Amino acid sequence: MVKRLKDRDPWGVTAHVIETNGYSPLWLIAKDNKKLLALCKTLMNGIGLLISNQFKQICKLCNLRTGSPIIHKLCYCTAIEAEREKLWTLILETCGIDDFKRFIQISAFEQCVSILKLGSETSQKHFLHLDIAVSICKLLH
Ligand SMILES: [Zn+2]
Repeated sequence: MVKRLKDRDPWGVTAHVIETNGYSPLWLIAKDNKKLLALCKTLMNGIGLLISNQFKQICKLCNLRTGSPIIHKLCYCTAIEAEREKLWTLILETCGIDDFKRFIQISAFEQCVSILKLGSETSQKHFLHLDIAVSICKLLH
């Protein structure tokens, strides 16, 4: 499963969640801190969904037909606009205005790749941007 995800990921969105030996730093975090288990699962599922083929489906929140539910929720869904604004503010604060200006010019798919990479980045069993990870999970939940 882990290797299959990695093979389908030319964009590098799995960079922080699957290491070359196939294990995930997120599970190490979840093992030590059960409160973060749901967050780790949501991030992993979101990354898996983003890079897998999607059939069109109806968003349960806004009733629009969507391609990728991940792109829809992180970039477009009107039902969760306030929460998404919080996420994008965190991204701006984390990246700085120059990187943020470049960020908003890339495609929605690439934005989702960048957001999920930022949110899943860890170091020594800690999330580097826990506030962003939490915000992503509120949107994807
Ligand atoms: Zn929606």
